[in-house]
This record gives sequence, structure tokens and C-alpha cells, in this order.
Amino acid sequence: MSQAISRVRGMYDVLPEQSWRWQRAEGIMRDLFQQYGYREIRFPVVEKTALFCSAIGEVTDIVEKEMYTFADRKGESLSLRPEGTASCVRALVQNNLMATGAQKLWYSGPMFRYERPQKGRNRQFQQVGVEYFGNPGPQADAELLILGQRLWHALGFDAQQHPIRLEINSLGTSDSRGRYRDALIAYFEQHKESLDEDARRRLYSNPLRILDSKNPAMREIIANAPVLTDYLDEDSASHHAELKRLLDAAGIAYVENPRLVRGLDYYSKTVFEWISDELGAQGTVCAGGRYDGLVERQGGKPTPAVGFALGLDRLLLLIEELGLWHAEPLADIYVVSEDGLDAAETFALTESLRREFPHKRVVQHLDGGSFKSQFKKADRSGARYAVILGQRELDEGTVSVKALKNRDLPQQQVSREELPRFFHENLEK
Ligand code: ATP
Ligand code: MG
Repeated sequence: MSQAISRVRGMYDVLPEQSWRWQRAEGIMRDLFQQYGYREIRFPVVEKTALFCSAIGEVTDIVEKEMYTFADRKGESLSLRPEGTASCVRALVQNNLMATGAQKLWYSGPMFRYERPQKGRNRQFQQVGVEYFGNPGPQADAELLILGQRLWHALGFDAQQHPIRLEINSLGTSDSRGRYRDALIAYFEQHKESLDEDARRRLYSNPLRILDSKNPAMREIIANAPVLTDYLDEDSASHHAELKRLLDAAGIAYVENPRLVRGLDYYSKTVFEWISDELGAQGTVCAGGRYDGLVERQGGKPTPAVGFALGLDRLLLLIEELGLWHAEPLADIYVVSEDGLDAAETFALTESLRREFPHKRVVQHLDGGSFKSQFKKADRSGARYAVILGQRELDEGTVSVKALKNRDLPQQQVSREELPRFFHENLEK
């Protein structure tokens, strides 16, 4: 045997034992987004590197350290997308989507970041994003948070038992952020000796990023830094106040966190994170905010925008650890047949059941063997009924039906004509 080639570090296979969770989550989200009037957009996994540098910001973790960047055969620098908003804005501008008015969009797909793999942090991971373009008001921010709350509920998170906490903050406009920036630089300059290497490098180029540091040694100095709230301009302050009023009215609890700055440069005014305390260090399952300047900076007309991205890997990890969901059985009906019986006869029977019950799982045993071994498989499939076809049944125009969950019920013979009615009556119980 030759040496097997393994997968890339930090990436993973979704096996059948797990894929049902992904499908269920994706289904719930698709339905919910549709209910709120959001439409799906799909864009490439690869973009020109310059797009991410300009949209996300040169002095950010993502662009400085985390991108998968390569030269294609013509020497053009391309990158695997590390997030969706930059591509979404590119697609919006390139396809002139704003010509028909405000756009409510969602997307789902793999993102790539060269990070240290750990629980809840992978190099290929799945994000689901929602973006609302063309509405400058706090009501757009509020809608996304109301949608978020409904999503947690739809996914089975009980607000009392397994809360997902909402933290909000306002980053103000670039003007107010400029004034805050000066104050931050002055503060960190006084504590230069306690800054780590990243922070020192970013002190003048992007001091706000220092607040987003994950280094525990930086915690204290960050905790005592000036807060942005004290520098907020009037427009951002009233935007923030109105958002809070709308959240209160909608019954959505939130925590104000003046240190919340987010890891990307394009945000303005509202930023938020949804956090679970039940997932360890990687507790942020969803994050986003307003980015009013980005579309214009990417070559479009000035367009206000707000959005969020949800880390599906983390969310599913949480759902699995909390045991919120149970797997559906592989089969509802399991069809077994006498060893040696013409498979064509069994196919005809199984297909007639599949036609009659398009939403039930009807699995046919094709691997032969004794009835005993076939029933073992039938049990393992989780099916409620086994349908048995033998030569005797075939001659008599019947099948035998055995209830697998209720062992007290005797096996019974049912005519082929009666079989659909039997299952219409019994499968729905
Ligand atoms: P973190 O602070 O955890 O590094 P981030 O600020 O880099 O997150 P965003 O860029 O805002 O994250 O991405 C939104 C969401 O995507 C995160 O809240 C998280 O749930 C998920 N996410 C980000 N990076 C990863 C990763 N490497 N692996 C798995 N999920 C991730
Ligand atoms: Mg990160």
C-alpha cells in the first residue's frame, strides 16, 4: 500500500454523522432569510488580493497574517476569500445591483484564514453572511438583530437555558474615530513598555486594532484605555440611542460593550457580536456592524450598509455540545427480501413505496444475507417498519410488515393493494 495523503492542517471533512447538522442549519437559515425578504447571492471563492487589502484594511490580522495568497499562472496575485463582505460589495458594485434600490442579501460558503487551528478556529471554515445595502437608519441595524434573535430561537437555543448574549457598541464616524484615535495614541504612548509587538507596530498605523488584541497580557492596559463613547459625534450617538430604543421595544436584551471594536477596518457606527459562554475562548458565533463608507471606497456610489457574518462551524459545535438536536433516522421503512429472490421484484416494490411516500425514507437492503442479518441492519437504520418480500409473499401478492419499534405487534401480512393505505394510517401516528 502506498502512503496516503492527508488533508491540509486546519481543514476538515464533514462526515455523514455530521452532515445532517449542516443541512438542518442551512435549511433553517435559508427559510428564515427568505421570510425576512433577503435573497441569496453567490460569489467566487477567489478574488484579486487587492480587493481584500483595500476593503478589510492593510493593518489587520486578516490581511497581515491570515490570507491564503498566491500568484496565478500569469503572475496575478489572488487570494482565497477570508470573509464575504468584501466580495459581496465587489459583486454589488460590479453588477450595479443598487440600480434597483436597496438590496437585502445573504450568502453561505467556505472562508479561508491561515490561523492557528484550535477548537472553533479552522483554516477553512463556513460563514453565513447577511448584508443590507441602501438603508442608513438604525432600523436596518435593528432588523438584523431581530433576525439574529429569531435565528437562535429557530435553531433551538432557549434564551434562559442557553443564552446567546448580544453585545453592541458604536464606532462613530471616521471623524469621531479620528479624535478618539489621537486620544488612544496618547494613552498607549504612556504605556509603551507594556505593549506587545503587534501593538507597538500598530500604535500609529491602526491603534484601534490594539483594542481587539487577543493577548491576555494586554488585557489590563486595554481595560484602562479611553473609551470611544466619550468621543462619539452627535449623529452616531442619536443613531445608537434609536437602535437601543428599537431593541428594547422588540424585547431584545443587549449588553453595551464600549471596548468592542471588531477586527476589520470598514466598520462605522453600530458594531455587534453574539457570544455564547458555553464554547470556551472562541465564543463569538456571529459578528457584524455598519459599514457606510465601504461601497464608495470600493468604487460604487455612496451606499450605507450593515451586515453580519455567522461562523457556522462554531455554531454547530455548540449545538452538538449542548445536545440541542437529535439525528433523524436513516430510514422510515426498510425493505428486506429473501436471499436469492429476483432483485427486480424488490425494486418494483420499493419504488412503488417511494412514489407513494415521497417524503419518507425508504431504504432497500441490497446486500443479501439471512433475514436475521437483514433485520439487524433494519434496526440499525432506525426505521419504524420493515417490509419483507419472500417467494411466498410474491406468489400470494402480499408483503409481510414488521413493526420494529413496537415489538409486541405481531408481524402481519398485507396485500400489495392495501400496502399504501396501511402506511398512510400507521406511519403518520
Ligand atoms: P475571532 O475574534 O474569533 O478571530 P473575527 O473577529 O476574526 O473572529 P469575523 O471576521 O468577524 O471574526 O468573522 C465572523 C465570525 O466568523 C466569527 O464570529 C466566528 O464565528 C467565525 N470565524 C472567524 N474566523 C474563524 C475561524 N478561523 N474558524 C472558524 N470560525 C471563524
Ligand atoms: Mg480572527
